[in-house]
Amino acid sequence: MICAISRRIEFILKCFAVFVLLIPLSGNAQGRWKVHDWSRPRPPIIEPGTFSTQEQPGRPPSDAIVLFDGKDLSDWRSMDGSPAKWIIKNGYMESVKGAGYIRTYRNFGDCQLHVEFATPYPPKGTSQGRGNSGVFLMGRYEVQVLDSYENVTYADGQCAAIYGQYPPLVNVSRKPGEWQTYDIIFHGPRWDREGNLIRKARMTVFHNGVLVQDNAELWGPTDWLKARPYTPHSEKGFLALQDHGNPVRYRNIWIREIGESAKQRKEVTVASKLLDMYAGDYEMGDWKFQIRREGDHLKAQPKSGYWVPLFAESDTLFYSKELELEVEFHLKKGKVVGITRQLTGSKSEGRKVTGS
Ligand code: MG
Repeated sequence: MICAISRRIEFILKCFAVFVLLIPLSGNAQGRWKVHDWSRPRPPIIEPGTFSTQEQPGRPPSDAIVLFDGKDLSDWRSMDGSPAKWIIKNGYMESVKGAGYIRTYRNFGDCQLHVEFATPYPPKGTSQGRGNSGVFLMGRYEVQVLDSYENVTYADGQCAAIYGQYPPLVNVSRKPGEWQTYDIIFHGPRWDREGNLIRKARMTVFHNGVLVQDNAELWGPTDWLKARPYTPHSEKGFLALQDHGNPVRYRNIWIREIGESAKQRKEVTVASKLLDMYAGDYEMGDWKFQIRREGDHLKAQPKSGYWVPLFAESDTLFYSKELELEVEFHLKKGKVVGITRQLTGSKSEGRKVTGS
């Protein structure tokens, strides 16, 4: 008897599940669009790029943001925001031992990234000591660069590994000195308002045109000898290249932001020295407008007890993603002399009264 009832319940549940699954098929298969809907917007038209050869880098697609075209390091900084100290020769940049990592000035979120690199010839060193560098998405998630041509090391640290987490599916490394390519599709992690992780970072990587990471779900930021947990961070961050003491070369670096990231306002990483300088109180009529630094961000207090994070569009112009709030700092001889604040359509000028 009990068995018959439970079978009937199971049957009802199955019918309900089929009904729920069929609902989307009976309406619009793709949300608000009908199948073959002529009113559906068509994608933008862009020019494709060309493939690179050993002799010459290819041309990026027309909508890509070019981060390095072999000429200068104007889009790059040292990690502290000072000028990048890597050298440029014959259309490539080369890592300089002790010069430190370099990073982009601009921040990026979900993206398609193209990078070309060559490990040193003649090869020197063994294992992790041979041609080591790395491509760090959002400054945290490393795709390893290493000379893995006839050079054995631990699997999750060889060329095209997501460092310390996923070995590449195959070793498709070229010989030292030869140009190699990475094409990376990256989706960053997301947190809800309470700081709970709701989406892990994911990466798909092609090494020399071959799939080596297939939508790999990262455990957290990559690290050496450590499994680090995720900690909340912004939806955009800089791209960094590693100085691991080996003169690894890079050329033809371009990026295309995708999805929501592509629609958002430009964002850059301002040197922490400048952020410290901006923090303080600004007299604005009878209101004290306060700016504080929190980690790699500024926060503003538009009304008592309410703090909002600010994001930088340039070294001096900041904006809120929550409010109609924009803040511009005015500098004179390297000192902050004033501020302009736009808040829900009204503009106020202020003068710095406390803070360095
Ligand atoms: Mg590395």
